[in-house]
Amino acid sequence: MSSTQYLRPARLDDALVALGTHPWTVLAGGTDFYPGRVGKPVDVDVLDITRIADLRGIEVTAGGVRIGATATWSELIAAELPDVCGGLKAAAREVGGVQIQNTGTVAGNLCNASPAADGVPALLALGAEVELRSGRGARRLPLGEFVLGSRKTARRPDELVVAVHLPAWPQGAKGVFLKLGHRRYLVISIVMVAACVALDAVGRIARCAIAVGACSAAAQRLSSLEARIVGMKPDAAVASVAANDLAGLTPIDDVRGSAAYRRDAALTLVRQAIEEAAR
Ligand SMILES: Cc1cc2nc3c(=O)[nH]c(=O)nc-3n(C[C@H](O)[C@H](O)[C@H](O)COP(=O)(O)OP(=O)(O)OC[C@H]3O[C@@H](n4cnc5c(N)ncnc54)[C@H](O)[C@@H]3O)c2cc1C
Repeated sequence: MSSTQYLRPARLDDALVALGTHPWTVLAGGTDFYPGRVGKPVDVDVLDITRIADLRGIEVTAGGVRIGATATWSELIAAELPDVCGGLKAAAREVGGVQIQNTGTVAGNLCNASPAADGVPALLALGAEVELRSGRGARRLPLGEFVLGSRKTARRPDELVVAVHLPAWPQGAKGVFLKLGHRRYLVISIVMVAACVALDAVGRIARCAIAVGACSAAAQRLSSLEARIVGMKPDAAVASVAANDLAGLTPIDDVRGSAAYRRDAALTLVRQAIEEAAR
């Protein structure tokens, strides 16, 4: 019979030393870790990071927002965040039920890298960066370079995600998140769209970011569409959105919906998200 180890350090440095010397599996809220092992004994050595004070909390500064690696979805919902984070808060309310939100972490959602992870498009649209640390040092990656595909991230085995950083947006910018599932709550997404929009003094789009999830192995920003609609009035921008703007998506056929249905739904949700974020 093999035995496994469990480590729950109180100091970040101790966790980093451990990760640098042994292959540990990181455990945060466990809401992805445990469901992936139902009926099976835990057969990996577990590094539980929930006791590390440096990884907790959500801080808002003039430069943006720092979400600590063990900050939960419930903490995010309760935090006073700029309006542009409205889409992220809406996504947080979609992650399972309240029990899951009380335990599951924002960073865990990114590290798990499910194509249907609600946090990924919302954080992509905000321009989030992921801060990684190891005994060798620290680095920050834009979220689009961190989540590389289905269950695949750029995290190296000795690295820990220590925080997620959101840049500041102009005053008045707004963010929305729209999710299509088979029912209203407790459902895996068929398509989700997040948009953040800032308008200029005459009501034209000054800055925008749009991300689509569950339509490719990793959620994607629609960068060409974003660049094209900057400078336009929101109504004209919405009217101009066409199927071609979503050509880079690669939705699949599965039990939840066909690829064609996903494309169609994504087009509708992108138009709706821009309209709502610019309102
Ligand atoms: C009933 C139920 C419903 C759910 N509904 C939804 C839903 O609607 N939408 C949705 O998006 N998700 C949903 N989830 C999935 C899950 O709750 C979220 O993805 C959650 O945010 C995961 O966070 P966690 O802290 O529990 O991660 P954990 O399970 O602790 O970890 C997840 C993965 O990330 C790694 N990891 C975690 N933190 C770090 C870190 N700091 N550094 C490096 N690696 C790390 C772990 O090793 C593991 O591989 C649901 C889960 C359940 C059980």
